[in-house]
Amino acid sequence: MALSPDWLNDKYSRLERKNAFDGSLVHGTSKFNRDTGRNSKPVNPFQAFIDPETNLIRQELTRPRNCPVCGAPPGEGLFIKDGFRHVRCPSCGLIYVSLILRDEIMIKYWREEMAWNAVLRTGPQTDMDKLKFAYGLELASSHAPGELPGTLLDVGAGTGTFIRLADGRGWKTTALELNVESAETMESEGYQVIVKPLELADLSENAYDMVTLWEVLEHLAEPKIVLSNTRELLTSGGVLLILVPNSGSLVTRILHEKSNTFGGHSHLNHFNPSSMKILLESLDYEILEMETVLTELGTIYNHLDFQDPYLGDAPETIPQLTPELIHDKLWGSRLLVVAKKADDS
Ligand SMILES: [Zn+2]
Repeated sequence: MALSPDWLNDKYSRLERKNAFDGSLVHGTSKFNRDTGRNSKPVNPFQAFIDPETNLIRQELTRPRNCPVCGAPPGEGLFIKDGFRHVRCPSCGLIYVSLILRDEIMIKYWREEMAWNAVLRTGPQTDMDKLKFAYGLELASSHAPGELPGTLLDVGAGTGTFIRLADGRGWKTTALELNVESAETMESEGYQVIVKPLELADLSENAYDMVTLWEVLEHLAEPKIVLSNTRELLTSGGVLLILVPNSGSLVTRILHEKSNTFGGHSHLNHFNPSSMKILLESLDYEILEMETVLTELGTIYNHLDFQDPYLGDAPETIPQLTPELIHDKLWGSRLLVVAKKADDS
């Protein structure tokens, strides 16, 4: 039977669970950013390839693409950041990067990237992530079919914190991860790891009761192909869990290009609730849950106080701006979605 934890049907218990892994609320914004090493991460590893005449990454390293949700040609240019042009789709509203790095450059980057792994492995980040992953796993499980725990595929498993948690709760896990260092660590701990992109992984269809994509879709040149593949891999009634940065969040709509979420070499797609809905429904998924997590309230206050948004220490100045309001409006900085294959398809 599907698990249905008590907190799920009580709005305030649910909010309490979310607030417990909101690093800014728990630790304070600048302290959390410093303690996790976010502030010392290299800003743009492709800085050296920016053409000073155009402010864009040298064209021979890039390729164009249309809107990855609806296929429309690139529309209104919003801004250039770190050498990449960010545009908004005139048809579906998605904010995305075009031109993007060529596929082989992107894959090499993901295989070798280490700086973000170091952030993910810090104590404060791991503690917050475990609570976040437990929340998502319980939420998605409440919609999953049959005997649980069952089979779980984690696409883009990162340093493995979620795989360890799911395994500890009895799920039969498979991790998909391109990063060599992360994959080797998980393999050395005995986990099943596939070091290939999903399209090449040759996994069995109808085999997974849950497929998870924790902060993965924003990185993919072709998110639609990946979601179409995950649909084939799910069992009947199996659930898909997605977490992505939310371009409809209050923090991103206030900070615009100053938001850390915009960095064109790796964050290629910026979904909001509306473009995510269009994407999933176009692939015959039925959305079961859509909500936001993480407030970034401190980031907002720092910016409003003319301080560094991520390292300032501004006081809270708008008492009405509560985590409850933020999440009621889907203004949190991450969008969390649970979906399954639509029944009639
Ligand atoms: Zn579009």
